[in-house]
Amino acid sequence: MSSKLIKTAAIIALISLFTIALVGCGGSDKSVVDKAKEKGKIVMGTSADFEPFEYIEIDEGKDGEIVGFDVDIAKAIAEKIGVELEIKDMDFGGLISALSSGKLDFVAAGMTADDERRKSVDFSDPYYEAYQVIIKSKGNEEIMSKDDLKDKVIGVQLGTTGDEVASEEEIGAKEVKRFDKATAAILALNNGKIDAVVLDQAVAEANVAQNEDSLELLDEPLSEEVYSLAAPKGDEKLVEIMNQVLNELKESGEYDQLLKKYGLE
Ligand code: GLN
Repeated sequence: MSSKLIKTAAIIALISLFTIALVGCGGSDKSVVDKAKEKGKIVMGTSADFEPFEYIEIDEGKDGEIVGFDVDIAKAIAEKIGVELEIKDMDFGGLISALSSGKLDFVAAGMTADDERRKSVDFSDPYYEAYQVIIKSKGNEEIMSKDDLKDKVIGVQLGTTGDEVASEEEIGAKEVKRFDKATAAILALNNGKIDAVVLDQAVAEANVAQNEDSLELLDEPLSEEVYSLAAPKGDEKLVEIMNQVLNELKESGEYDQLLKKYGLE
């Protein structure tokens, strides 16, 4: 082959590669809403260890089903789009990257809308106000406030705002133990392996209620947060539908009913 021919062949190969790449990108610009309509389903990602927002129902004949406040909101979104809801349960720490890489269509996981996450996802309007609290063993008088966390071993769920709060220098923890599941942190506290857990208030309440002989919480807010649903970065169409559904639920009174249903008032 002459060198001219080789050059021409190389240029053609490059142009084709470029075209393939461009067509590929075009596909990912499409809203999750349109893709869901084509597939007939929308995929929600969550971490079902966060009662009452998402947890695995073990009684009432619903064995193994993922239920909760967020699940009911997600169902309303699927219904609005006119598709089935599929739920993927994973560790909280993996949700953002699974959403960014297209493995999930949206996230409903008691997720705090913060600026760090906003770099890789878009958030709906806030739907719930939250804050971190301390859970400790019942009657442990060594821990009466945030200041007493100094030199203690604190359990958190990896990659959560609770992890951030507990890891602050100002807290001065001896060690922050990071668990994949919030429920594993609670179990470690119950087994005396750690001194305290830092967790979202409503979820802490639910866990303490189930372990009232062994655990108690300090109702001292350690942060100010709001939960939002997360959409893939740039998917304005999906965010608009999420906000529309949240508004409709609030206006119809269904939102208040859901709060009541899950003991969140
Ligand atoms: N609200 C916390 C956060 O966004 C915890 C969420 C969770 O564990 N599901 O980091």
